[in-house]
Amino acid sequence: MKSARSALILTLSRQAFRPNMNHNAGRAAVLLVDFDGTIVDTDTAQIALDRFGDHDWMRIDEALERGEISFEESLSREFVTLKAPPEAIIEEVRRQTSFRPNFDRLVDYCRNAQLPLTVVSGGLDFCIQHFLDRNDWLRFVKICAPISHFTGSGYTLMFPEVTHYGSSSFKDGLVRYEKTKGFRVFFVGNGFGDLSAAKEATFVFAIRGSRLAHLCREQHVQHEEVEDFQEVIDGLRHRL
Ligand SMILES: [Mg+2]
Repeated sequence: MKSARSALILTLSRQAFRPNMNHNAGRAAVLLVDFDGTIVDTDTAQIALDRFGDHDWMRIDEALERGEISFEESLSREFVTLKAPPEAIIEEVRRQTSFRPNFDRLVDYCRNAQLPLTVVSGGLDFCIQHFLDRNDWLRFVKICAPISHFTGSGYTLMFPEVTHYGSSSFKDGLVRYEKTKGFRVFFVGNGFGDLSAAKEATFVFAIRGSRLAHLCREQHVQHEEVEDFQEVIDGLRHRL
């Protein structure tokens, strides 16, 4: 059953599931975590663009920050310039990227606490899958990200169908969607692209020193700044 107005989350197998079917309605909370600069210590899309794409991607990000284009449009404009196949991009990214400490503990914690964990990212789906395809994580962790398709001269994107009235991107669309299901939404992120989701979330963990942390302080969005995922676990323990 498919509806354009409900959330579609993509899994490694590229099968779709809908959160309201996946989540036990009795659970009180969900955790949404950004990928680039949050789960991992680099921005994998920026690495790919610097090596294989338009070096002017920063101008596209600036247009996003000025509100001239949407988050989705910024991603489409950037990834269409990438001239390398997924294998080459993964190889380039893999050499430069590590996990933020204690992400493995966070997955264990969520699994034990039965706290649904979704990675919500505007990054390259195959990069996200490459990093998360270990320790059986993808049996538990869901991914909400655009599906990319390499045409031979660039990537086209198919965005998650997380539409909700008033949302500015699929990130805050997913937050709003989960809230309409009655869940408290905890969000972890680092970038400008996370701000709209952070504003909608029940509580935000912002990576210390990040753009998101700065924006949350500036715009009085209640949040806690964290360096690694053990701090997220500790913060969740207090709040769940
Ligand atoms: Mg990020």
